[in-house]
Amino acid sequence: MKKPIVIVEDEPDIVELMTIHLEKTGFAVKSFSGGAGFLRFIEKTEPALVVLDLMLPDIDGLEICKTLRRHESLASVPIIMVTAKGEEMDKVLGLELGADDYMAKPFSPRELVARVKALLRRNGPAAQAGKVVEIGGMLTLDLTKYEVMLRGRRIELTSTEFKILELLSSKKGWVFSREKILDHLWGDEKAVIDRTVDVHIRHLREKLGDAAYFVKNIRGVGYKLEE
Ligand code: CA
Repeated sequence: MKKPIVIVEDEPDIVELMTIHLEKTGFAVKSFSGGAGFLRFIEKTEPALVVLDLMLPDIDGLEICKTLRRHESLASVPIIMVTAKGEEMDKVLGLELGADDYMAKPFSPRELVARVKALLRRNGPAAQAGKVVEIGGMLTLDLTKYEVMLRGRRIELTSTEFKILELLSSKKGWVFSREKILDHLWGDEKAVIDRTVDVHIRHLREKLGDAAYFVKNIRGVGYKLEE
């Protein structure tokens, strides 16, 4: 069975609109009006992607995001965080807690479908089948399995963090501007601010432990990976 796109949202009109458009595109869709039902669901079923509303009647969306990221096998499931108008403050916080993308209501269903496709493309089988990148003798990136190993131990990155590491390691020593990194992450669907790159990189560095040393900030320019 095809893995479903899961919508966690308590406004029925929005759920219906999103469902119609995603199903029309060919996705299987499952929805929950609260966090509790969703958390029970993911005990047994792995979603392809989660569209997560921030304000839910029972459990806070950020709490759900955190729970998913701590989960052993669901840590890399892409999450699009959805917030009501004027909740801009939570954008950075959402990304801090591991969301891959963020959309503010009201958004067009077409934009949602585009973002979903972009995220799934990244998480799907990489074009560079079987390619493994090695960094500094301690870190390996498997571009097919989307797996990062630090001294043989697997570390869980979000798809955004993985994508950044993939880009930086594609040309070691080369400095990538924030703009370039955003382009790589989102292409034409780019609608995020510069600061988000810094948040993702900080998060990535934390997870890389002592290998974080390889990811360097070039003040005023961007980031690079250097062994
Ligand atoms: Ca809501």
